[in-house]
Order: sequence, then C-alpha cells, then structure tokens
Amino acid sequence: MNIIVCLKQVPDTNEVKIDPVRGTLIREGVPSIINPDDRNALEEALRLKDEHKDVKVTVLSMGPPQADVALREALAMGADEAVLLSDRAFAGSDTWATSTALAAGIKKIEDYSIIFCGRQAIDGDTAQVGPQIAEHLNLPQITYVEELKIEDNKVIAKRALEDGHFVIESNMPVLLTAIKELNEPRYPSIKGIYDAHRDNKVKIWSAKDVDADFSNLGLDGSPTQVNKSFTPPGRSGVGEILQGNPKESVRELIVKLREKHLI
Ligand SMILES: Cc1cc2nc3c(=O)[nH]c(=O)nc-3n(C[C@H](O)[C@H](O)[C@H](O)COP(=O)(O)OP(=O)(O)OC[C@H]3O[C@@H](n4cnc5c(N)ncnc54)[C@H](O)[C@@H]3O)c2cc1C
Repeated sequence: MNIIVCLKQVPDTNEVKIDPVRGTLIREGVPSIINPDDRNALEEALRLKDEHKDVKVTVLSMGPPQADVALREALAMGADEAVLLSDRAFAGSDTWATSTALAAGIKKIEDYSIIFCGRQAIDGDTAQVGPQIAEHLNLPQITYVEELKIEDNKVIAKRALEDGHFVIESNMPVLLTAIKELNEPRYPSIKGIYDAHRDNKVKIWSAKDVDADFSNLGLDGSPTQVNKSFTPPGRSGVGEILQGNPKESVRELIVKLREKHLI
C-alpha cells in the first residue's frame, strides 16, 4: 500500500518578530521547518508502515530547491521516497495553482491508497490545498483527522468537530488531512539522518516532468492575487479598572462587553 504525504517547508512563525520601529516582520534568520500538521500526517503514515509491512511512504513537496531540507528530514524520520516539485513555473502560486501542481505530481506517482496532508500550513494558513487536491483527483476526503485505523481495505477516521467528532469510513484511495491531536511525531534517527543526506535521495521534478497544466500554474495561473500585505497595528487600548461594589462592577462590565458586542 502506497501512502503519499504532502509536506510543506514553512518559516517557523513562532520565530518571526515585529520590528518595533518600522512595524514590519523580521524574517532574517528565521529557520525553515516542516509544517507542524504535516509532521503529524507523516507520523501517521510511518505508524501505518510500522503496523503493516507492505506500506511504502513517499513525501511530496512543492517549493524552491532548498525545500529538499524538509524532505531529507522526512526521509530521516523513516519515509521511503521523496519528491520535490521545483520549477520557476510554480513560483507565486496561490492555493489553486499549488494544488494543481501537487495533483499533477501525485498522478505521476500513480499507485496510491492514501494521500495525507496537514490540515493547514502555518504561513499561508488557508487549509484549502488538501481538499483541492482531492477535487482535482476526484477522490473522497476526510479532513481534521484525529484518529485513524485501516480495516478491511477501508479507512475509519475520527474527524474532529468544534464540540465533538464524526467517525467516517471511506474506501481507498482517499485524501486525509491531519491535525496535531492525531499523534506525537517521532524524531529522526542518527542512521536515518546519515542515509537521508546521500546524493540523489530527493527526486526533483519540473512542471514538464509531471505534465502539469501550465495555464493553472504559478502567478499567472492563480485566480487570486495578493495586492497588499501589511503588519497589523499593535494594540493601543488602555486598561480600565472598575472600582467599588463587586456586584455593581460585574453589572457594569457586562454592559460594557455588550456595547462592544463581545457577549
Ligand atoms: C498571488 C499569490 C502569490 C503567492 N506567492 C507565493 C510565493 O511566491 N511563495 C510562497 O511560498 N507562497 C506564495 N503564496 C502563498 C501560497 O499560495 C500558499 O502558501 C500555498 O498556496 C499553500 O497554501 P497554504 O499555505 O494556505 O496551505 P494550506 O492549504 O493551509 O495547506 C494545507 C496542506 O496542504 C499541503 N501543502 C500546502 N502547500 C504545499 C506545498 N507547497 N508542498 C506540499 N504540500 C503542501 C500541506 O500538507 C499542508 O499542510 C502566494 C499566494 C498568492 C495568493
């Protein structure tokens, strides 16, 4: 059984600071990491590999050449193969163009039972790419997976809701998106790190290699365009302390919160 994990290299947004004078984001020196939800997706694929000996895990990413670092880390954790879609034709892609490219890569890999994505990436933050890949490939999808098992050639997934969960069963092939409650990702092994850094461990495919539809790729193939980006202004409000009788203060507080439509 082949499992493909879509994995995005992202800047570690916990490390991004705001320049207090210019009010802009300081990106210099910010490390790149595997997107956290994608780490959970990969861990689950590796867990299935530990359980079922016939499982092969391929990690797939779209990004610049340096995104191979994330893929090598995934190999060091235990993935079997890694593919990087890298081409100038992909630059400036919105979610539609990104999912078009990833779906083309998946079609070239061909034989798969599960495609795993993270729920969302911490930089773009849209949570659109996974469901769009499922649509491109005409596959069923289960998002927000917090528990997973395979039985009788079907996946049975617990899907998180705001105030509960669904248990959903699906035939394979299927696309799943992982959330952090799914598992605790493992660390790479020393031998894994050594092996992952040998030459030719990451296959690089261009847009032509995956026979992608160029009219739906990159900036020109993106239906949305980012016109402006800016750092949100800092909070300027001043605190207010309500004095006096606690009962009256609570009443006053409720009135103030209602006025601001907060309750
Ligand atoms: C006009 C425009 C220009 C842009 N230009 C750039 C740019 O030049 N450079 C840039 O980095 N971003 C650019 N972006 C942002 C880019 O569109 C998003 O980062 C990208 O489409 C993925 O969306 P997301 O980050 O919201 O992923 P989500 O939909 O939140 O991701 C969900 C899951 O999909 C998978 N996934 C998402 N992206 C990838 C990927 N690349 N490889 C493998 N798996 C993936 C992962 O499993 C992830 O957890 C641009 C956006 C727009 C609208």
